[in-house]
Amino acid sequence: MLKLPGLIDPHVHMREPGGTHKEDWDSGTSAALAGGVTMVLAMPNTKPPIFDAQGLAMVQAAAKEKARCDYAQFIGAGPTNSQWKENKDLPLQAAGLKMYLDQTFGELRLDSMTTWQEHFSSWPLNRPIVAHSESRSMAAVILMAAMYNRQVHIAHVSLKEEILLIKAAKERGIKVTCEVCPHHLFLTRDDIPAISQGHPGRGEVRPRLAGREDMEALWANLDIIDCFATDHAPHTLAEKDGENPPPGFPGLEALLPLLLSAVAEKRLTVEDIIQKSVTNPQKIFSLPVQPETWVEVDEEAEYELHASEMHSRCGWTPYEGWKVRGRIRKVVLRGEHAFQDGQILARTGYGQNVRLISHSH
Ligand SMILES: [Zn+2]
Repeated sequence: MLKLPGLIDPHVHMREPGGTHKEDWDSGTSAALAGGVTMVLAMPNTKPPIFDAQGLAMVQAAAKEKARCDYAQFIGAGPTNSQWKENKDLPLQAAGLKMYLDQTFGELRLDSMTTWQEHFSSWPLNRPIVAHSESRSMAAVILMAAMYNRQVHIAHVSLKEEILLIKAAKERGIKVTCEVCPHHLFLTRDDIPAISQGHPGRGEVRPRLAGREDMEALWANLDIIDCFATDHAPHTLAEKDGENPPPGFPGLEALLPLLLSAVAEKRLTVEDIIQKSVTNPQKIFSLPVQPETWVEVDEEAEYELHASEMHSRCGWTPYEGWKVRGRIRKVVLRGEHAFQDGQILARTGYGQNVRLISHSH
């Protein structure tokens, strides 16, 4: 039996409010626990998106009632909410500020660099800024972080040119950190036919699955990758197979089995998992240590991943039938049995908003 600290996933989409037919704070945090994840940071591109105190309060109420693991909620950077100096309390309640600088699911893209500057100059330094920025817009946002001498965290790095850019920026002392998703570490565009099964929408994800050379560059630069993040982005199969398939893959329940399989293949170490899924997210996002919290794994167990055994409401996985090694047997969260042998044991509402805890201390 291998014992790990509870994992932190700094990038999930809970779909509540507005998309609870595909996920909500109950099903999403159940999927987290089943995946050995005891803390999630939720993205703001819900319906409506989370831009202000009213929106944040709405999410906090839903999460307080339903969440089974600990959490915090991001606020979205919009064209009209950049006056953070006049609104000092709100950032302290948020996981961080999420800036969408490239197209994705939802309507949060910020095109004006003047607006980027307003957010960079007014968002408090003790709360992170996370940027969805691909390729050249990534170069632009890293430049802006350097100009404001503040930290920026780059979401879901997928390309060779991106990881090399971040490496070069780090070597020059720029305060940039980054995360990589399991689907960019374990899948390339060559896997799309197998994922799609004749339904091309199932292969849609942003950033798109990349080439083999990109995937190999991520593995070759593991030391540049600060965090693993699932970008858990559930949509139902009916939506993925429909007219306008939304981009996104579920990932919470596949992350740790995939990483442990890579450990079995000696491509990764257990220490890498702890660093990139626990200690680095704690540092980058100023998250509290969860006391009496751990995950027990049967390292030797070999089995197949099947959506039918998962807890996400979306009902499918891009890793259907994949053979993996390392099964999560038990999750203990703050002294309570939260998951054991396929059963979710933590009750709804057990999860705590980690921003409200640290705020009250
Ligand atoms: Zn995302």
